[in-house]
This record gives sequence, C-alpha cells and structure tokens, in this order.
Amino acid sequence: MPGGREGGARARAEEWADVVVVGGGLTGLAAAVRVARGAAGRRVLLLEAAGELGGRARTTEQDGYRLGLGPRALYRTARAQLRALGVAVPGRAPRLGGALALCDGALHPGYAAPGPLLRTGLLAPRERLAVARLLGLARPHPGLAGLDVEAWLGERLPTARARQAAFAVLRLSTYTGSPAMIGADALAAHFAEVRRGVTYVDGGWRTLVDALRARARSAGVRVRAAARVTAVEAGERPRVVIADGGAVRARAVILAGPARRTAWQLLDLDDAQPDPAGRPLRTACLDVALSRLPAPDRSLVYGVDEPLYLSVFSRTARLAPPGGAVLHLARYDDGAGLGPDEVRKRLYGLLDLCQPGWRDALVHERFLPRITTMTAVPQARHGGLRGRPGPEVPGRPGVYVAGDWVGPRGLLADACLLSAAQAAERALARL
Ligand SMILES: Cc1cc2nc3c(=O)[nH]c(=O)nc-3n(C[C@H](O)[C@H](O)[C@H](O)COP(=O)(O)OP(=O)(O)OC[C@H]3O[C@@H](n4cnc5c(N)ncnc54)[C@H](O)[C@@H]3O)c2cc1C
Repeated sequence: MPGGREGGARARAEEWADVVVVGGGLTGLAAAVRVARGAAGRRVLLLEAAGELGGRARTTEQDGYRLGLGPRALYRTARAQLRALGVAVPGRAPRLGGALALCDGALHPGYAAPGPLLRTGLLAPRERLAVARLLGLARPHPGLAGLDVEAWLGERLPTARARQAAFAVLRLSTYTGSPAMIGADALAAHFAEVRRGVTYVDGGWRTLVDALRARARSAGVRVRAAARVTAVEAGERPRVVIADGGAVRARAVILAGPARRTAWQLLDLDDAQPDPAGRPLRTACLDVALSRLPAPDRSLVYGVDEPLYLSVFSRTARLAPPGGAVLHLARYDDGAGLGPDEVRKRLYGLLDLCQPGWRDALVHERFLPRITTMTAVPQARHGGLRGRPGPEVPGRPGVYVAGDWVGPRGLLADACLLSAAQAAERALARL
C-alpha cells in the first residue's frame, strides 16, 4: 500500500509495514517482540542505524573476555519484563558484604549492607542510625514530588557527613554524581527497586540482546541494520524515511532509539520548549580484562568523597576465562568538569590502590570518557518521573516513543522495557 504523494524514484523505493520500530537497542528489540507477538502475521520492521544490534547494551569479546560498555546491573523490573518476553537472565547477585569504601584516599570497610552500616567507623552512632533508616526504608511517596535529592537528604539526615555517606550508596545504581542532579521521587523509587536485588548477567548484556534478537526473529520481525531513519513524516499512515533513500509507510511507528530532541527533529516538531525530560547524564568508564586478579578481596569499592566505583564483575558473572578477571571502573559525573585525561588518571589511581600490579596482568582495556548512561535524568523542577513524556507524541497520531526518558516509571533499562511495553500496546491498538 505505497502512498501516492511522491512520484519517481522515491515512490518506487517505498515499502509498507504494519509497524516500524526505529532503534535496535534493548528498547527497540523489546518493543518489536511485543508487537510481533501481539499481532501474529503482521509486518513488523525494525530499523537500526548501526551495523549491529544492541546499542548501549553491546558487549565486546576479546580473547574470551566479555566487556560491556561500562558496568551493568539488571534490576527486578527489567528481569520481569524480559521474562515476560521469554528471555532468561542467567547470572547472580553481587555480594555487598565484602565491599570497601574509599574515603580520604584510604580504603575502609564498606557500609552498603545493613550490618556493616551499623558498625562503620566513618559515621557516629546517631548518623549511622539515620542513614540506616533512610537506606532501609526509602520508597517513593507523594511527599517527594518537587524535591531534589539534596533537599530530601537535608530533611532526613542530621549532618553533612551523613548526607555524603548516604548519597555514596544511593548514587551507585543511578550514576548521578551529585544529589542536586536528580529528583527524590525517581531516586527513592529506584533504590526501592535495587533493594529487591540486582543481577550481573553471564556473558554481559549481549546475552540479553542475542536472546531478544532470537525472539524477534522467531516472532517474524524483519530486522534491517545500517538503516538510519532521517525523518518520520506525519499522516494517517506515517512515512519513515531512511538515509539510503528508501521509505516505509506504516500504521504505527515506535521511535525507540533517538533521544527526545532528535526524536522531535525527526518528527519536525517545534522544539522551542525547554526539554521537559531533563539533562543527559554522562559517565567515564574504564573496562579492564586481567589474566589474574592481584587482590581478590578488593572486588567492590565505592568512593565516599569522590564519585568513584570499581567492581570485579567476573567474580559474580561468567565473563572471563578461568583465572582471568573483568573489572569495571567508573567516575560519575558530579559537575566538576574534569577533562578526560584527569578522569583517566583518577581511575588508574583507583586501580593501583585496589589491584596493585594490575598492569602486569593486563589483557585489554577500554576507556569511555563520556558515555551516556541516562538520556535524561528526571529532575524535580521538571516534575520528576511524572514529568517524563510519552509514549504518545502530541500532534502525531500513530507515532509513539520509548526509551529511558519515557513514561512515569523506572530508571535506566527498567524505563526502557516498561516504555517499550506501553508503546507496543498503543501500536497494537492501531492495527
Ligand atoms: C555505562 C553505562 C552503565 C549502565 N548501567 C546500567 C545499569 O546498571 N542498569 C540499567 O538498568 N541500565 C544501565 N545502563 C542503561 C542501559 O544500558 C540503557 O538504558 C539501555 O541499554 C538503553 O537501551 P535503548 O535501546 O533505549 O537505547 P540504546 O542502547 O542507545 O539504543 C538505541 C539504538 O537506536 C539506534 N538509533 C538511534 N537513532 C536512530 C535512527 N535515527 N535510525 C535508526 N536507528 C537509530 C542506535 O544506533 C542504537 O542502536 C547503563 C548505561 C551505560 C552507558
């Protein structure tokens, strides 16, 4: 059913699909599987700009070591969403018991688990109790709307030291380096989720991408890589334009790859309004493969007075050949504006401190100075989680958005998979 609007070569290149999904990361793959399963026999086409699927969930393999693009932990909501799609999540939960806290340049017993928290020498007894209450009971409630985490911690904790110590634990799973960056509702909801357990995935997140791709194929999704979408023209049947000159007309389109600003540009929508979805969050990551681990007892370290992180992922998940190790280090963006050389130096410093002699065992390393961890951090002044857009796009019937910046629930991959489900449901309703 090609449209008759354009003639010549353009019309000849036009195809037709029931649903087009743009983006082949976790969000797009999950959305495509849901649509194809919900509407057997319909034409579902997934377009991915890159040469391979996976987006930020890609995992590289070198000499038998699996390295994600930075550290990854899967939360309960994402696990449940994946299970609903028939995707198993092999892996285990990291042990917090042996964690260490880096403060004033020295390593101390960690306090992320309740027992060690009540004994930590980094806090006075009154501070320990207040931090333990906050970390143990934090959950979303209406009173947190409009508060950023700085204000929330200020209300709940008695001293600057207690606030710093609590945020050092809270930021681990959100990648926000400073408490002024994120809304309290989003962080409290996410931390409640984290308390229900995290999983480091065997084989890295490529395991999930491969399984989703297999599900997509068996459900009949047609996948096209190296197909960058350059526009989505409005109409009763939106028209998706591809960089190679081709076009696809569809009953419904799910934009599951581009960030909001790019999505609005593709849709030729006025973007004069300030972005309600919040600011992008970038993280510096150092991924390291070692042939042996110099100090096995230092496998999880988090900074208290600086947003640093080191985790030996291969202690928990299958990522390295026998005897070898895969480590992920990160420095979270705290607005300090450090250049990439300085950040790299600090990450090397952390590795020297925790794993002395690591250079002699180095197999592979990769430094990512500014990878996007979250497309848009939900901030109090933008309405927090409830202020996020989508999945409908105002003024564009039949076009839906999904991703980590969409919908009222979840952060990171949780938000991706929840919004993918919502967008797929809306697209199915158009068929
Ligand atoms: C360092 C790091 C650590 C993280 N840690 C965690 C964690 O511990 N837990 C967690 O839940 N999440 C974590 N995340 C976040 C999680 O990885 C992402 O939320 C998720 O992978 C994003 O999936 P996505 O499909 O929405 O986007 P992406 O993975 O970015 O994929 C989007 C895809 O769309 C394609 N695309 C874009 N524009 C177009 C276009 N115009 N045409 C065609 N294709 C297009 C891109 O090429 C890309 O392949 C982390 C992220 C990073 C970077």
